[in-house]
Amino acid sequence: MINKLEEYAHLVVEIGLNVQKGQYVVINSPIECAPFTRLCVKAAYEVGAKEVLMTWTDDFVSRQYWLNADDSVFDEVYPWIVEKNLEMTKRGASRLSISARNPENLKGVDPSRLKRSSKAYGEASKEFSAMLMANAVPWCIASIPVPSWAKKVFPDLSEQEAVDRLWEEIYNAVRITDEGGAVERWKKHCADLSEKCRILNEHAFKYLHYTNSLGTDLTVELPEGHVWGAGSEISKSGIEFVANIPTEEVFTAPKFDGVNGKVVASKPLILGGNIVDGFSMTFKDGKIVEVHAEQGEEFLKNEIGIDEGASYLGEVALVPYDSPISKSGVLFYNTLFDENASCHLAFGNAYPSCVEGGADLDKDQLKERGLNYSLTHVDFMIGTSDLNIDGIKANGEKVAVFRNGNYAF
Ligand code: ZN
Ligand code: ZN
Repeated sequence: MINKLEEYAHLVVEIGLNVQKGQYVVINSPIECAPFTRLCVKAAYEVGAKEVLMTWTDDFVSRQYWLNADDSVFDEVYPWIVEKNLEMTKRGASRLSISARNPENLKGVDPSRLKRSSKAYGEASKEFSAMLMANAVPWCIASIPVPSWAKKVFPDLSEQEAVDRLWEEIYNAVRITDEGGAVERWKKHCADLSEKCRILNEHAFKYLHYTNSLGTDLTVELPEGHVWGAGSEISKSGIEFVANIPTEEVFTAPKFDGVNGKVVASKPLILGGNIVDGFSMTFKDGKIVEVHAEQGEEFLKNEIGIDEGASYLGEVALVPYDSPISKSGVLFYNTLFDENASCHLAFGNAYPSCVEGGADLDKDQLKERGLNYSLTHVDFMIGTSDLNIDGIKANGEKVAVFRNGNYAF
């Protein structure tokens, strides 16, 4: 019988980060996830990591901070926090984040605190974020259940049952089974995703046109020389890695000023510890000119108001409606899973790798190529079982890309 938790830790370390001999590893993890995170640390040393540096976080402590810390601290970021991130990145450290929290941990926190802090952090860590977005080093996000999160996903189960059930769903989503062999299975999965990229890159569409019965009718222009990516990527330091476990998406960047029409979200979004639900956005020449949400509208508007680029799109991603996560029918209240169950868009910053040669360009050069720049990047889900997407080429030729929520090719 294989130990699935160990297998998962090896998957994250060997496929996610692909830790190399002599490499530093930086891990951010909630303390509640310690049993899993410790196995990741052990697995990293087993493949030859030079040193693993830990940062532990805690929902309880962070809620106390957001509610009760002096109001002045939310406008400030300590230089040593930024320096630590920068220095370790310059030393080639790979970065693992364990994403697991109570989705509503920050309910009731003054939204202006969240907004100011997010802005201050974004400003202070510009250089670091640019390095990460350009894949200077391998990075990976993975998740395990914590009770508060599991109860939100399965409110009718007892805490223990909810945690067990969420484990089942997560193992299913990350392709870990009782038979073992997850690392090999992932290599095949990444190759399948690359094949979709190849087809989309060959088409070199000028526009994508989205329609469904929720009321989405959106035209997204793609920049010249855009590149679709998926599954594994190669860091600037030359290491193949998988940034999200699980991952089902194939993504590129839109031309930031070429988005027009209306898009309706198909799932709720967790934004800084708050839920935003039942929302839609209208775009004119790329800019969000109208936003409505039935729940959490102010959190959405705050995030879009962070800077000029936050009101433009930075990512367009395709995920089939029949992907394993989507088929489970579970709403995870965690973007890592929900975005991989659904076609999504992101407002805010674009990934430089989404245009040819983009990883070596600065933000002004990237903007000239049509890529958006912002301090934020927020994915939101728009896929439905009746979503159709047409690809339109420069010569006007129309190709079916999605029909009824799934790839048409
Ligand atoms: Zn995405
Ligand atoms: Zn994204």
